[in-house]
Amino acid sequence: SPKIIGLTGGIGSGKTTVAKFIEEFGFPVYYSDERAKDIVNENEDLKVRIKGLLGEEAYDENGTYNRKFVAGKVFNNKNLLEQLNHIIHPAVRHDFENWVKKQTKYLVFKETALLFELKLNKDCYKSILVTAEDNIRMKRVMDRDGKTYREVQAIMEKQMPEKDKIKLADCIIYNNTNLEDLKEITEKIVFDIE
Ligand code: ATP
Repeated sequence: SPKIIGLTGGIGSGKTTVAKFIEEFGFPVYYSDERAKDIVNENEDLKVRIKGLLGEEAYDENGTYNRKFVAGKVFNNKNLLEQLNHIIHPAVRHDFENWVKKQTKYLVFKETALLFELKLNKDCYKSILVTAEDNIRMKRVMDRDGKTYREVQAIMEKQMPEKDKIKLADCIIYNNTNLEDLKEITEKIVFDIE
């Protein structure tokens, strides 16, 4: 079975950009956060349990996950968020395991914002952290999402501090310059993994 490399970073760090480069280099990437968004709509058992936790309104009349409603419910309700995560995270983990079984490359990458928070790095051969200065991440997210300074700041404050992630990571990509540099650093790191 392939070696699993965890790929993580805080909001606006550039982890998705790095993941796309990694795919360009020919390696498969599992996008955990993206998959989680699909899984809540695909898995019937999950739907039932989420409705049980949050109410019928967690899904709209077409049976589609009502992200806005759920976000509103769990915002500032740590306990409810934990319960929701307790339903969703194992489903994603299971989905990832099935995905890995289908891969044929010697290395596969798992992109997830919560690699260290969920201790998913324990199941990885190596971890890669993408990081950048706060003000740079801030600007990139404001430009990308049209979010305000305060909105981005609120998200950043909820995430694990960069200094803690830096201590836990096997490889660190400092993404403070431009996309050419980022691609070059990524290529070096990926092909140096042994
Ligand atoms: P999130 O957790 O919010 O999804 P992310 O870590 O996946 O963020 P990306 O979406 O890859 O981050 O990058 C954030 C934004 O910054 C994107 O619009 C991306 O194109 C841009 N960006 C990333 N790295 C660079 C760079 N080195 N130079 C210029 N723009 C960059």
